[in-house]
Amino acid sequence: MSRIAIIGAGASGLVCAIEASRKGHVVSVFEKNSKVGRKILATGNGRCNISNEKINISRYHGEAPSFAKEALRRFDTFTCKAYFRSLGLEMREGEEGRLYPMSHQASSVVDMLLHEARSLGVSFLLESEVLKIEKNSTEFVLHVKDAKQTFDACVIASGSVAMPTLGSSGSGYAFAKALGHCVIEPYPSLVQFICDEPHLKEVSGVKVDAGVELYIANQKRQSVQGDLLFTAYGLSGSAILDISRTASKAFVEGESVHVVVDLLPNLSREALSSLLQKRLTCAKGKSLSLWLEGIIPKKLAHFIVENTKLTPIKEASTLGAKEMKKLVFALKSLPLHVKATKGFESAEVCAGGVDVRELDAKSMMSSKVKNLYFCGEVLDIDGDCGGFNLHFAWASGFLVGQNL
Ligand SMILES: Cc1cc2nc3c(=O)[nH]c(=O)nc-3n(C[C@H](O)[C@H](O)[C@H](O)COP(=O)(O)OP(=O)(O)OC[C@H]3O[C@@H](n4cnc5c(N)ncnc54)[C@H](O)[C@@H]3O)c2cc1C
Repeated sequence: MSRIAIIGAGASGLVCAIEASRKGHVVSVFEKNSKVGRKILATGNGRCNISNEKINISRYHGEAPSFAKEALRRFDTFTCKAYFRSLGLEMREGEEGRLYPMSHQASSVVDMLLHEARSLGVSFLLESEVLKIEKNSTEFVLHVKDAKQTFDACVIASGSVAMPTLGSSGSGYAFAKALGHCVIEPYPSLVQFICDEPHLKEVSGVKVDAGVELYIANQKRQSVQGDLLFTAYGLSGSAILDISRTASKAFVEGESVHVVVDLLPNLSREALSSLLQKRLTCAKGKSLSLWLEGIIPKKLAHFIVENTKLTPIKEASTLGAKEMKKLVFALKSLPLHVKATKGFESAEVCAGGVDVRELDAKSMMSSKVKNLYFCGEVLDIDGDCGGFNLHFAWASGFLVGQNL
């Protein structure tokens, strides 16, 4: 039986605490917030996209993503569902294999984890920010406010710097560095884009299923189809989150970024041209934007007319072949310059983090400091949108807890 300190009562820390306690250890969890699992409560718009039916190593990224294989093997989707069921939580499947609690409330996930941890005797020290970790020959000394406490093993489960309002402070990176580890410089991922296009504000709130191509330094790098949400500052939605990691890295490297949006991805250019031609029969007496409202949302119709500078055309029925071509181009290949991402403040996760090449993949123990472990987002492993990040947090917390 050992005294274990876990820094962070988030997704990875909670599962780690449960597993460590089940092994008979005395577990203390330090959490700087006044309640546990604050980030979990914000996930999936409060519904918590716990995991995904299609968990696969290809959905994870970092300098050495294969590191995550062992954690995902030991804690796959099947195990994840069984694990939460054993805690009393049923799941339901949503779009694209996403798994949610049946209650559709993130709070159910936190409540079940907390109940289990407390029943096992885990101590939660809330409003207890760990300020420093020292390692002497046998023990870890944790500095919290004016007090010091000693432990036999220490788990850093303190998350990243994404969305600091929920508790992320990047302290895990500082602890890792102070204990001799390398940290891959973090950058925001699963994050929205800021655009400086004129008139974009006018389409704020419009959501469409779109094709989005990402260009870095004018080279096409990624192509996705999914929800695209126009906002007052720029672009959001799952299609943007899916390409945001690559864009964010490009900004770090000083490259230019733009996207090309296909507002009607399920129609080929030819099919759209012939549809527009056919629709000229109902164009008489209609302004161009009213006529376009027959196929795209009203605000977007106005935006396209302004953006293609077709405003002088007062009636849709007077559209010539040249203008028709311009319109098809605008609807299928709308270029938008991206100025920046919304940054760490709005990012769902961080790419980068503690270099996993300095850890043992089977236990997640440091190869530099005996009995020092890391789990969750503090590591240089980040997943795609769709439950992959929480899954890695549970899986890595599980692996550490079982190996302590
Ligand atoms: C808005 C939002 C929505 C998201 N939605 C989803 C989703 O639906 N599905 C999905 O898979 N992923 C989602 N994610 C990502 C997912 O929430 C994280 O990847 C996951 O919570 C990481 O777990 P963690 O345990 O590593 O860190 P966290 O959950 O961030 O927990 C770390 C904890 O450590 C505490 N802490 C930090 N430093 C210290 C310190 N020095 N002393 C004491 N305590 C400290 C923090 O307060 C925090 O509570 C979302 C993220 C955000 C921000």
